[in-house]
Amino acid sequence: MNQIVLERPGAVRLKVLPPLALYVHIPWCVRKCPYCDFNSHQRGGALPEREYVERLFLDLESLLPLVWGRRLVSVFIGGGTPSLFSPESIDALLSGIRARLPLEPQAEISLEANPGTVEAARFRGFREAGVNRISIGVQSFDDRMLAALGRIHGSEEARRALDAAAASFDNVNLDLMYGLPGQSAAMARKDIEQALACGVPHVSAYQLTIEPNTVFWSKPPRLPEHDLCADMQIMIEEILDQAGYEHYETSAFARAGRRCRHNLNYWEFGDYLGIGAGAHGKVSFPDRITRHEQVKQPTAYLKGLSIENTEIPAGELPFEFMLNALRLVQGFPIALFQERTGLPLAVIQPELEKAERQGLIESDWQRIRPSARGRLFLNELLELFLAGERKGRG
Ligand code: SF4
Repeated sequence: MNQIVLERPGAVRLKVLPPLALYVHIPWCVRKCPYCDFNSHQRGGALPEREYVERLFLDLESLLPLVWGRRLVSVFIGGGTPSLFSPESIDALLSGIRARLPLEPQAEISLEANPGTVEAARFRGFREAGVNRISIGVQSFDDRMLAALGRIHGSEEARRALDAAAASFDNVNLDLMYGLPGQSAAMARKDIEQALACGVPHVSAYQLTIEPNTVFWSKPPRLPEHDLCADMQIMIEEILDQAGYEHYETSAFARAGRRCRHNLNYWEFGDYLGIGAGAHGKVSFPDRITRHEQVKQPTAYLKGLSIENTEIPAGELPFEFMLNALRLVQGFPIALFQERTGLPLAVIQPELEKAERQGLIESDWQRIRPSARGRLFLNELLELFLAGERKGRG
């Protein structure tokens, strides 16, 4: 007997579902940095930690029907400054997550911390709560640069935070910025050398960019010229390479076995639930891929949930995939495109050929990766796939 299969027009078909991660957003900071366009808000007095954690659970429970039977490969508690929450609140949060959604036995559990908000006992408490990876927002070891960035900490506090973190964690990321107001190449070199001297197994190095809706956007500081910033980037990549760090993503460098698994899951177009003010997520089903987003303002979030859940049109999936996967220095296995988008690679063949002709990507039978030129002109490379979407691909 013939089987009749009904299919929605334009539907995607996924044979396997990708790994599932969880992002938790804690939206408060001691003070808003003038360059920051994240959903972070200056705290006014004591934080409503208990209330917020309870709200996070409601948020998670509302998403559970989307992911029945699946396990979390990682949890990332970001912000904002999650280290403003007490270890007890983080403990309650992680216990509540485990009670609602199973974690893989070796799940990576990261927490972002800022110098000036943590000391040794707090780090120990986070460790005991189950956090196994700490990401520290150092940004610079130069007090003048830290002042120019409006950070609440100085270089001494940054070093103390790194020492205290190292006493409780062997998996530590250090966030560093370059291209800072008044920064010379020698100053950027000193910063990266000091980061290395701390012995952290993971470094994320970002160029400062001026984003809309920030203080720097309305009062822009004088930044180093574009060529100087490009030189700084090359220098940082060389120094980290010589020190044995693998450059695996545009801004990420890791010692062996220390890549950030949570972020890798984003870049490989994996699934993730997002809970907390302004958090968003992506969930795949055999015949569709959806995204969800929470209300941004912490006060509105605390008052009630108004989650938006929508299906991603199939025509948008190729660009979304490329936006993530082309950040990876080694690119992606060819089969991953179909596995994660549910669409055949043929839908982007014209763009792939154009990118290859322009020397922006390299491919063999197994992988597609950005070339050195493609990494340098990543926006131009991505523009090709966006143009394909605008033309109505899929
Ligand atoms: S500490 Fe981080 S999240 Fe908070 S305002 Fe500064 S840059 Fe933004």
